[in-house]
Amino acid sequence: MAFLGNDFIISSTILIVVIFSFLYIYRKKIFKAYYQEIDFDLFEKQIKEYLQTNHPKINFNYKIINSSQNELNPKTRCYTIIDNLVEQFINTDIDTNFTPRPISQNQLWDSYTFNAKPIGTKLPDDWAKRKMVVAVRDNNICQRCGIHTKPENIHLFLLKSIKDGGQFYLENLIIICKDCQKVTTKKDLKYLNIKDELNSFVQ
Ligand SMILES: [Zn+2]
Repeated sequence: MAFLGNDFIISSTILIVVIFSFLYIYRKKIFKAYYQEIDFDLFEKQIKEYLQTNHPKINFNYKIINSSQNELNPKTRCYTIIDNLVEQFINTDIDTNFTPRPISQNQLWDSYTFNAKPIGTKLPDDWAKRKMVVAVRDNNICQRCGIHTKPENIHLFLLKSIKDGGQFYLENLIIICKDCQKVTTKKDLKYLNIKDELNSFVQ
């Protein structure tokens, strides 16, 4: 190195020190994805609160929170946790072995018994009426996941399916939400409201 001279060595050393100091000081800005500040405790609290309040009938297991600890990117960790919880939501079986609350006889209508018997795969003419009565009986609460559901998002679910001999009596009908309708029919599972809601807690 003698041919380069002392001045060069000193100035390059200073330059290297300056570059590394700069990288160190601004590391958070430079490696934004890895250092993005996330209040993880807040995220954990919010998702647990959300699920407990909105889907109390689903028994979520939170072990993914510990097992994802080694993920360096905090956002990736949050999305990994959300994916796991949504999977649990999808994979929870609907309980078909319970008896819904009874409805008093005077709430029933003339064609009620006649239309309760299925004819082929056709839904009864008074399907909308059945839906309304069952929604009131179930307090607009999805009987699979427990979310309070707006009338336009309510679906009827048959505890015993027609092919298994189920009929349209109100004892065989419960209401479920739009997400649970997608889960029970295995349709549009990519677009679940629960996923959007949980994603909204990732800042
Ligand atoms: Zn539901």
